[in-house]
Amino acid sequence: MLPEIKGLNEECGIFGVWGHKDAAQLTYYGLHSLQHRGQEGTGIVVSDGKKLKGVKGEGLVAEIFTTEAMKELTGTSAIGHVRYATAGGGGYENVQPLLFHSQTGSLALAHNGNLVNVNSLKHQLEAQGSIFQTSSDTEVLAHLMKRSGYSDSKDRAKNALSMLKGAYAYLIMTETELMVALDPHGLRPLSLGSLGDAYVVASETCAFDVVGAEYIRDIRPGELLIINDQGVISEQFAVSSTKAICTMEYIYFSRPDSNIQGINVHTARKNMGKRMAMEAPIDADVVTGVPDSSISAAIGYAEAAGIPYEMGLIKNRYVGRTFIQPSQTLREQGVKMKLSAVRGVVEGKRVIMVDDSIVRGTTSRRIVNLLKEAGATEVHVVISSPPIKNPCFYGIDTSTKEELIASDKSVEEIRELIGADSLTFISVEGMMHALGQEGTNGYCLGCFTGNYPTEIYPDTLQYYYQK
Ligand code: SF4
Repeated sequence: MLPEIKGLNEECGIFGVWGHKDAAQLTYYGLHSLQHRGQEGTGIVVSDGKKLKGVKGEGLVAEIFTTEAMKELTGTSAIGHVRYATAGGGGYENVQPLLFHSQTGSLALAHNGNLVNVNSLKHQLEAQGSIFQTSSDTEVLAHLMKRSGYSDSKDRAKNALSMLKGAYAYLIMTETELMVALDPHGLRPLSLGSLGDAYVVASETCAFDVVGAEYIRDIRPGELLIINDQGVISEQFAVSSTKAICTMEYIYFSRPDSNIQGINVHTARKNMGKRMAMEAPIDADVVTGVPDSSISAAIGYAEAAGIPYEMGLIKNRYVGRTFIQPSQTLREQGVKMKLSAVRGVVEGKRVIMVDDSIVRGTTSRRIVNLLKEAGATEVHVVISSPPIKNPCFYGIDTSTKEELIASDKSVEEIRELIGADSLTFISVEGMMHALGQEGTNGYCLGCFTGNYPTEIYPDTLQYYYQK
């Protein structure tokens, strides 16, 4: 049971195009701009109106879609996926889009998020005779659709989606239509755009800019869009929907040039930094940010505090993100490979180091060390998220509760463990204020507060809270 749940622990990016002669190429560029959301596997499935075919593999977008591979992908519509998965959930068969063929037609699925009732659904489906090809939660939707008994694809999708619990942004493509669905809480970002007469859908709006598409709107929680050659139809499949978008998308995960619900990610991060300058005023000589996701917050802090922002840390661009490497050993090696302190900037200085989060504490300890080894006289750590005390069940790999340093340690204990001269986390109120919100309505803060927007099923809890 447990390895199965561990295998669901993923964060991904999805991109789709309907009605463009260069559908596969556009999807390639879209996925390339979403590569930060997952680097372990990628795939594209195209439709030429008569059949679906796909190319997928384990690796980066630029590695999998060679010139030869792209020649295979002819059609006017496409969906694509970039995948991150833990070691237990990797493997070629789990790389998406998943493609299913049957007597009545083909179906391709691309999914971003995590389902929290997948084991109960799988048990039910297996008892009814389903055989699963993958250990991914994505496949459940295909089986539910096939067994729904409805003849119309829209009804099949609505019926199946209503049985899912958790976070999901789905692209569902058949030979004749592209369906786009977002869970009733809208936990993961998903936007609709246009490119001439074609429609595009992406996890983040940065992908629209790359392909020259115009943003139309965000997909609503509990909404099913049906896109075909006649246009777009919007339906609501969830009886009740309450928005709870993931706050970590703003803090860490999304690209700074993306907008989520009309809020630019860079601006939100900068505001978080400004807020931290108010919540944690520190007497120091320079402010530096941990590249790349903390630069915006560091600039905000420096601007509000009137302390110069300097590039005190440099990132080696050719190494993957630490947060999404699969093992602790690799993560630790990754930090050494990835970051260097700039001695000429930090030597003899009191440094404020702004970072977006502390997950296990290992990375923060190494960065503080790097700065001190490079001659910083003091290192004050300012974190632009509240302490992560609880796991995420919805697709961001914050790991088990016992691995989260803030789950059972005070701020002072964490400060001591990471070797900083001071440590401050933004408050929940401060973070919401930075997002332009008075309260927490409309946002998920589960990993900070322990209040999750959905019910969490016992078998999922068993894995995340194991001791
Ligand atoms: S629990 Fe945290 S990381 Fe997960 S969706 Fe909610 S805010 Fe995002």
